[in-house]
Amino acid sequence: MSDLRVDVCANCGIESGDAVKLKDCTACRLVKYCGVDCQRAHRKRHKKACKQRAAELKDERLYGQGHERPEGDFCPICTLPIPIPMPKHSGFYICCMKKICFGCDVAAKKRGMHGCPFCRTSLSCNDADKLAMVRTRAEKKDPDAIFFLGQKYFFGEHFGLRKDTRKAVELLTEAAELGSIQAFFSLGNAYLRGRGYGVQQDHAKATEFFAKAAMEGHVESRFNLGCFEEQKGNHDRAVRHFLISAKMGDNDSVESIKRAFMAGIATKEQYAEALRGHQDAVEQMKRDGVEKDHAKATEFYMKAAMQGHVPSRYNLGCYEAKKGNFHRAVRHLLISAKMGEERSLAAIKKMFMTGLTNKEQYAETLKGYQCAAEEMKSHDRDEVKALPGGEL
Ligand SMILES: [Zn+2]
Ligand SMILES: [Zn+2]
Ligand SMILES: [Zn+2]
Ligand SMILES: [Zn+2]
Repeated sequence: MSDLRVDVCANCGIESGDAVKLKDCTACRLVKYCGVDCQRAHRKRHKKACKQRAAELKDERLYGQGHERPEGDFCPICTLPIPIPMPKHSGFYICCMKKICFGCDVAAKKRGMHGCPFCRTSLSCNDADKLAMVRTRAEKKDPDAIFFLGQKYFFGEHFGLRKDTRKAVELLTEAAELGSIQAFFSLGNAYLRGRGYGVQQDHAKATEFFAKAAMEGHVESRFNLGCFEEQKGNHDRAVRHFLISAKMGDNDSVESIKRAFMAGIATKEQYAEALRGHQDAVEQMKRDGVEKDHAKATEFYMKAAMQGHVPSRYNLGCYEAKKGNFHRAVRHLLISAKMGEERSLAAIKKMFMTGLTNKEQYAETLKGYQCAAEEMKSHDRDEVKALPGGEL
C-alpha cells in the first residue's frame, strides 16, 4: 500500500530514497519528516491537525477494544462468564488464583469435595500457611498473586498483614506491569480517592488506569469511564461507554442508559440496543438448565397466548420489552389489553410516558381495554341475573 504513496518530507518536500529515510510523525502518522529539524520547523503548521488525528486514534482504541470480558472473568470449571459484580457470584481460591462460580462451587461441595473445586488442593485454615502459598506464587511473578498481596496491604485486615498503602501501590504497580487487569482498576480507584490510598489524588491518572483496564474488557472500569464523561457533560461519550459495558452484562450501565433515555439524551435505539445486548449477556451467563427452562417457558407462553390465554400474552409482551424489542412488546400488550388485561394497559401507559410508544397506540389500548372491561361487567351482571334469586 505504502508504495503507492509518494513519500515526501512534509516540511522540505524531499523524497524518500537511499540517502533519505523518512520517519512518521508518531503521534498522528499522517505525515513524514526527513529529520528532527524539519519536524521542528513544521510543528506550528502541523500542530492542530496532529492533535486532532491523535485524539481520533486514541478514541478508536478506547471505544474499539475491550468488548469481550477477560479470561479471568470466566469460571474455569463450567467456562461460563461469571455474573457482575463477580465477588457476589463467585468464590476465590488462592491455591490457583481462580474465581469459581457459585454454581460449580456448591456442586463440588455437594459432591463432598472439600478442597479447591478446580485444582483440588486442600486449603489450610492457618493464615501463615495461606500467606506463604500466595508469597510463593508472587515470587514466581504471578500477576494475580502480586495483585492479591497488594489488595491485602491496602486494607491490612487479613493474613496478619499490617496496612501499608505505599507497599500496596508498589505491588499493584508491579502486578499491572505484569498484565493484571484488576490491578489497573485498583490503581484507578486509588488515584480517584487519593488520601489514604498511598497516592496523591489525580483524576487524570485514575481515568488513564480505568481506560487501560476497560480496553482489556474490565466491566466496572468501563462503567466508571462512562460516569466520568457523564459528569463532564459529554453525554454522547458516556452512552458509548455504557453501551459497551451493558452488552457485557452490567446492570448499572443499562440503568444509566435508561436514565439518559428518559432525560432525552440517549435515543430509543440506543436504549433498545443496551437492553437487548444486556439480555443476551445475561442469558449467556446462565447455566444450561436455567437457559433451557427459559426457552421452554417462552414456548409455553406462545402456545397458550395463541389459544387466547391472556396472562401468557402479557408475559410475552414483558419478555420482548426486556429484550428491547418495544415494537413486538406493544403488539403483545395491545392484544392482551384488548382482552381486559389491566397489567398490559399499565405497561403500555408506562411505555407511552417514557416515549417508547406513541399516543395513538396508547389511545387504542385504553379504548380496547375499556371496551373489554365494560363487556366483562355486563357479563358479570348477566350471570348474576341468571342465578335464581340472584337479583340484588
Ligand atoms: Zn525535510
Ligand atoms: Zn503529527
Ligand atoms: Zn462454574
Ligand atoms: Zn485451586
